[in-house]
Amino acid sequence: MMIIDGSLGEGGGQILRSSLTLSMVTGKPFAIENIRAGREKPGLMRQHLTAVKAAAAICGAETRHAEIGSTRLVFEPGRIAAGAHVFNIGSAGSTSLVLQTLLLPLALADAPSRLVIQGGTHNLAAPPFEFVARAFLPLQARIGFRVSIRLTRPGFFPAGGGEIVVEIEPSAKLEPLILETRGALVRRRIEAQVANLPFAIARREVVHAKEMLGWADAELAPCQIDGAPSTGNVVLIEVEHEAVTEVFTGFGRQGVSAEAVAASAAREARDYLAGAHAIGLHLADQLLLPMALGAGGRFTTGPLSDHTRTNITTIQRFLDVPIRTHSLAEGCAVELLAAS
Ligand code: ATP
Repeated sequence: MMIIDGSLGEGGGQILRSSLTLSMVTGKPFAIENIRAGREKPGLMRQHLTAVKAAAAICGAETRHAEIGSTRLVFEPGRIAAGAHVFNIGSAGSTSLVLQTLLLPLALADAPSRLVIQGGTHNLAAPPFEFVARAFLPLQARIGFRVSIRLTRPGFFPAGGGEIVVEIEPSAKLEPLILETRGALVRRRIEAQVANLPFAIARREVVHAKEMLGWADAELAPCQIDGAPSTGNVVLIEVEHEAVTEVFTGFGRQGVSAEAVAASAAREARDYLAGAHAIGLHLADQLLLPMALGAGGRFTTGPLSDHTRTNITTIQRFLDVPIRTHSLAEGCAVELLAAS
C-alpha cells in the first residue's frame, strides 16, 4: 500500500485531504503517517476527521485509526455513491475544506449529489464561504465541474455552528484551465461583515481598507449579517478581473483591532494588484487538484507557497501528471498536463 508522509513540506491538513480526494477518484488505497506533524497540535482534528469519515461514507471506504488525535490513518476506498449526504463537523472546523475534499469525486460521478455541511464557514487559515463561492467555484465551472453553493447559516470562528448546502451535477466536458493573464479590471469591493457586533466595527474596517487602497466610497460595503449563532467579523476584499476573481480576507478576532483586521486583507489585495500574475497565493494551491483531475492547464502566480509545493508532491504520488513550474521575471508559471 502507498505510504504518505504527512510531515512532508508544509506538514498540514492539506496532505491528508488531497490524499483522500485522490484515493477516492483513483481507487488507490493509502496509509498516511505523521499526520499534521508540522502543526502545534498534530494529528486529526475534528475538521480532518469529518473529511475522513465523509470521504469514507461517500465511497464505502474501510478505514483504520480514524479517531481524534490520531497521527496515522489507513484508507481503502470503494465505489463512489453520489446522492444526498449531511456531515456535521461538530466544531468550528472549516466546512470549505471538508467540501473541497469531497467535491471532485462527486463531480466526476455519474449522478447528482447534494451535500449539507455544518461547522465553521469563516475560519482563520481556511477559505471563507465567499472565497469558495466567488473565487474558487467559478473557476471549477470553467473546467467543467458544475457546483452551486448556498450559505444557509453563517458560522464564524471560533464558535462555528454554520451550514452550507452544495449541489453537484455530473461534470460537463472537461476543459483545460488557462489563466496566464487577469484581463481588465471589472469590479472592486471592500466588504466588512459583522454578526451580533456593533455596525461601527464594519464601518471602521471598510474606511481603513479604503484609505490603504485609495478606493472610492462606492466600493465599500459594510454589512450586518443575520442568523449567525455567535459573534463574528470578517473583511472580504474582492477584486474581479475578466479572467479571475480573487477574494482577500481578514478574520476578526478578540484582541485585534478593526483596523488591523482590515489592514491584513488590504495588504494582500495591494500586493496582488501590484503584480501581474493571474492567481493569488491561496487559489494557486487549491487549483492544482481540479486541474490534475480535470484537463490540466496553466496559470501564473506569485512565488510558490509551501502549500503549493507540497500539494504538487502529493498529487504526483497518486497520478501520473507532469506538473512543471518555472520562474518568471516576477512570480512563477505552473503547468499541468491532464492525468493519463
Ligand atoms: P492545519 O494546517 O492546521 O492542518 P488545515 O487542515 O486547515 O490546517 P492547511 O493544510 O493549512 O489545512 O490548508 C489550508 C487551506 O486553506 C489551503 O488550501 C489554503 O490555501 C487555504 N486558505 C488559508 N487561508 C485562506 C484564505 N484567507 N483564503 C482562501 N483560502 C485560504
